Amino acid sequence: MEILHVSAECYPVAKAGGLGDVVGALPKYLNQMGHTAKVVMPMYRTKFLYANEWDVVHKGGTNLGNWWFEFTVIKEKTNKLGFDLYLLDINGLLDREKVYGYDDDTERFVAFQISVLDWLSAWKHQPDVVHCHDHHTALIPFMMKYSHRFANIKAISSILTIHNAEYQGWMGWDRSNYIPEWDMWQWGMLDWKNNINPLASGIKCADKVTTVSPSYLDELKYMSNGLEALFEYEKGKCSGILNGIDADVWDPSTDTYISHQYTLQQIEAGKAKNKMQLCEQFNLDFEKPLIVFIGRLVGEKGADLLPQVISDTFYFVGRRMNFLILGSGQPEVEKGLSDLLNISQYDFNVFIGYNETLSHVMYAGADFLLMPSRVEPCGLNQMYAMRYGTIPMVRRTGGLRDTVRDFGDAGGYGICYDYASVGDISHGVFRAVELFRDRKKVSAIRNNIMQLDFSWESSVKQYISLYESLS
Ligand code: ADP
Repeated sequence: MEILHVSAECYPVAKAGGLGDVVGALPKYLNQMGHTAKVVMPMYRTKFLYANEWDVVHKGGTNLGNWWFEFTVIKEKTNKLGFDLYLLDINGLLDREKVYGYDDDTERFVAFQISVLDWLSAWKHQPDVVHCHDHHTALIPFMMKYSHRFANIKAISSILTIHNAEYQGWMGWDRSNYIPEWDMWQWGMLDWKNNINPLASGIKCADKVTTVSPSYLDELKYMSNGLEALFEYEKGKCSGILNGIDADVWDPSTDTYISHQYTLQQIEAGKAKNKMQLCEQFNLDFEKPLIVFIGRLVGEKGADLLPQVISDTFYFVGRRMNFLILGSGQPEVEKGLSDLLNISQYDFNVFIGYNETLSHVMYAGADFLLMPSRVEPCGLNQMYAMRYGTIPMVRRTGGLRDTVRDFGDAGGYGICYDYASVGDISHGVFRAVELFRDRKKVSAIRNNIMQLDFSWESSVKQYISLYESLS
């Protein structure tokens, strides 16, 4: 089958989180299984753009409301990522350094989606499925069905995968003229609670909807930032498919981001060398367990609780562990963490920012990875951690519930807790410190988790069945 993925992110071209990782891997594995998967995304000004060669494959012009603009589609020349990669350039609108965070993000992503469909309408041989990801591309199913201009691609099936339902792309009805002339009877397919809600529209109009883990889909029916009733109503076409991890990128024996690579057989020595590197770089105590957090410093990830958790455990459990945090996000959380540097006794440090290399070294060198998420659609960090022999400490929610089992239960290998509360997380830290004293047990768990299979193979098969169910 032929599948066109439309996404705002794709690793290594541009990544802000898990969406980028998934869109960088899923098409590659689809191709390896004999299908043809392609990706189109906005052309941002990223390193990848300048480091590679491109062919211009299409030039077009279209409009966003009253604004006429021209766009260009370029294609990477060498199939470097294992699939055809197309970047869509709209001068002045998409060609910026960051993926998100601009005041005109609505205009940027709506214009991107319209241009993708304009381009797709001109293809001689059309794909079987258009696969959209998150709200930035979720107006596509509506436009394919109800914008008169795209009548010739109406028959192509569409799928929407929800990586995060917290962000929905809301826009007022005053911007409805952005969407190319559409069947006004269908206004209800755009509307949710008196606004145009792109994510809700995608859920209503796509032929199938997936979430990135089965538990997340269950949770969305009672907690989805206002869309609960819609998820309940549309449950017949929704399914949860757990993300895989790209075993080519995330492999401690070949990872070029880390200086000390290691195989399963070298796990203890390998992790120790990486831990030593981190301890030297961040002034930490090698003898104590190293607990790390990697991610966006936002409430969704429970990051706002970290300063209190860290100071409480230092006080109540004692200075028996190190904490190292990597991330950026809400200024008050960044400040709360930076303030803790004042009380560090070679046992706390924080790196505010986004750093791909450091994240890999932390997965490799840490003893434990903390994920106290309030919401976690799938969560990739815990899977990366396990592949590097690092024990996950997770709140039982979404994909974390589907991938981590508590070491106190039969066959378990992680530390799980029920609430995103300071008390529950701190208790998890206490359990980690106690577990760390039992070197044999830690070693056995490391061995076990490094061998767990979180590869894409089984997830890709589920996507293929879904695509086939549409034809
Ligand atoms: P999200 O909700 O942010 O998408 P995921 O767990 O699905 O969460 O994916 C997070 C991805 O982003 C992982 O690859 C993780 O290593 C990476 N990441 C998050 N924050 C940072 C950071 N500050 N520096 C480097 N990588 C980061």
